Amino acid sequence: MSEIVSDIAVKLIRRESVTPADGGCQDYMERLLAPLGFVRTRVDAGGVTNSIYTRAGEFPGTLAYAGHTDVVPTGPLEAWPQPPFAGVIEQNILHGRGAQDMKGSIACWIAAVAELCQRAEPLPTLQMLITSDEEGESIDGTIRLVEYLQQHNALPDAVIVGEPSSHTRVGDTIRRGRRGVVQVRAVFHGKQGHSAYPRDADNAIHRAAPVLARIAAIDWGVPADGFPPTSCQITNLSGGTGASNVIPGQCECFIDIRYNPANDFDAIRTAIEQAAAGTSVSFSFDHVATAFSTPDGPFLDLICDSIHRVTGLDTIRDTGGGTSDGRFLAAAGVPVAELGLTNSTIHQVGECVAVDELHTLTDIYKDIITHFEVTS
Ligand SMILES: [Zn+2]
Repeated sequence: MSEIVSDIAVKLIRRESVTPADGGCQDYMERLLAPLGFVRTRVDAGGVTNSIYTRAGEFPGTLAYAGHTDVVPTGPLEAWPQPPFAGVIEQNILHGRGAQDMKGSIACWIAAVAELCQRAEPLPTLQMLITSDEEGESIDGTIRLVEYLQQHNALPDAVIVGEPSSHTRVGDTIRRGRRGVVQVRAVFHGKQGHSAYPRDADNAIHRAAPVLARIAAIDWGVPADGFPPTSCQITNLSGGTGASNVIPGQCECFIDIRYNPANDFDAIRTAIEQAAAGTSVSFSFDHVATAFSTPDGPFLDLICDSIHRVTGLDTIRDTGGGTSDGRFLAAAGVPVAELGLTNSTIHQVGECVAVDELHTLTDIYKDIITHFEVTS
């Protein structure tokens, strides 16, 4: 069995699939999963390949694995030690785009399920929720899968997202939440004029400055457990014509907010608008990503216990990093944990993973699946 996981990973890497392409990965997965009792439902949308693979279980409860078959572009090919879509294993290292993020992890989950099915052990219902639009806009990817599951009353009881959560060893870190992102464009309105005649003008930069100072000083309160404080950064500011004798009639600025789950979008918008009360300004708010957090409890304990049984590691329950597709599942009320390979070369030229890591992660996934009934 030990050869199967690297074999699957190699075959996934060889199916070139830069976002939003799937490259035939999900068809290949169907060929692996169908003999194990999985039924594939396609939820394609907007040129994105999305699949739900479901295996009805012998135990109550549904455990899902969520992941993506798309990969980021390669960058300069000549800089790769091995061709990025060749899937070469050399000295026990698997090279290729997607090795860590996250075709390697998909291979581990399939290998884990395959071994458990061969043992004919009773299992919970298993789902694989797979998209080819994670690294891009994420408009027609996991969110469409979640909509389908909601419509069909088939949301899982918990989900493991296979993103590369680990730092130096597989299982040393899981992610149980992510900060949310709000981006704001603000246009302050004044009246352009000659700098020698300020009475006839209204300086938009002067309007903006005190408001921006108040926005930068907003107290976002105590962060949710395990999260860093909300960060509100004014990232761009522009106004004026370039001439020193023209009072600017308009000033534009961009604000980037990374918030923890103690804050929410409505509260953030209200705080920003209040800081600008009485000022002529137009705001546009973009809620780019919703914050989520899976509280400590049986699901996270199960994952950390499995990691400990397999590796002996005490796992850090982290909330760092940018956004992930876990937010769509969390928004539907599903407990989410991200557990995958190490992330030392993700999105880099020369992405690679140690084959030993694939075996370790396969063993962890197996242990989680076999113990899942405890929490369901
Ligand atoms: Zn990824």
